[in-house]
Amino acid sequence: MHYQPQRDLLNDRIILVTGASDGIGKEAALTYARHGASLILLGRQEAKLRQVAQAIKDEGQQAQWFTLDMATCTPEECQQLAATIAAATPHLDGVLHNAGLLGDICPMSEQDPATWDAVMRVNVNATFYLTQALLPLLLKSDSGSLVFTSSSVGRQGRANWGAYAASKFATEGMMQVLAEEYQNRLRVNCINPGGTRTKMRASAFPTEDPQKLKTPADIMPLYLWLMGDDSRRKTGMSFDAQPGRKPGITQ
Ligand code: NDP
Repeated sequence: MHYQPQRDLLNDRIILVTGASDGIGKEAALTYARHGASLILLGRQEAKLRQVAQAIKDEGQQAQWFTLDMATCTPEECQQLAATIAAATPHLDGVLHNAGLLGDICPMSEQDPATWDAVMRVNVNATFYLTQALLPLLLKSDSGSLVFTSSSVGRQGRANWGAYAASKFATEGMMQVLAEEYQNRLRVNCINPGGTRTKMRASAFPTEDPQKLKTPADIMPLYLWLMGDDSRRKTGMSFDAQPGRKPGITQ
């Protein structure tokens, strides 16, 4: 995407990112901060979140972090977290649902039901609980943007992608339902990052040369565009960070 964001694109915006401890979510949090946003970082590992928050503060922006294990969290915990955030934060201008779990790459007949459940809990259930809990804060913004993270296998099923593919179809569905429910009040969209150099990608494609992949930083233009006012009229859509990129082949 050829998008040249203004340096102050996200000035005075408050943006929450899940899975902000690593990979694409970490890069998105740092990038949003560099464009003026204050960040709320969610993740499951305190030490990693602390490090990202410090990097943001070192660049002069504000960052708070909260731990939440999305594989085990309950709706009540998500409501409690939202209440804690609301006590210190007047509104949320953006939420990037980025945290994700890959699960097993294997045929449906061999998918471990426990792993299937974990993938669904992280990618779908906890994402829904958090959305429900954070919606009141998002609706207080006059330019709220809710962004989900999908995948090419969330639009076209592919052999061996089992729980992950099913969870990303559910993600696309959640986005479409919410976009219709909040028309004119909140924009709701999906990003498909496309193959990107992260730990998740390396575990899905262990024999691939990571140097041939885009880095998280390379795909940030779309992440910025969807959070800023330049995408204000867009809702209910699924965007590719790397349009035209062919899906990889698992070995
Ligand atoms: P990474 O594995 O690098 O990062 C995943 C993030 O999610 C980490 O911050 C991780 O935390 C967090 N996370 C995982 N499980 C939990 C949990 N139980 N509770 C809370 N947080 C959790 O993945 P990517 O950066 O590659 O992926 C980001 C998103 O992009 C995902 O939704 C993924 O499905 C999607 N995607 C990625 C592609 C790629 O090629 N990289 C392609 C298509 C889609 P921790 O640091 O603790 O592990």
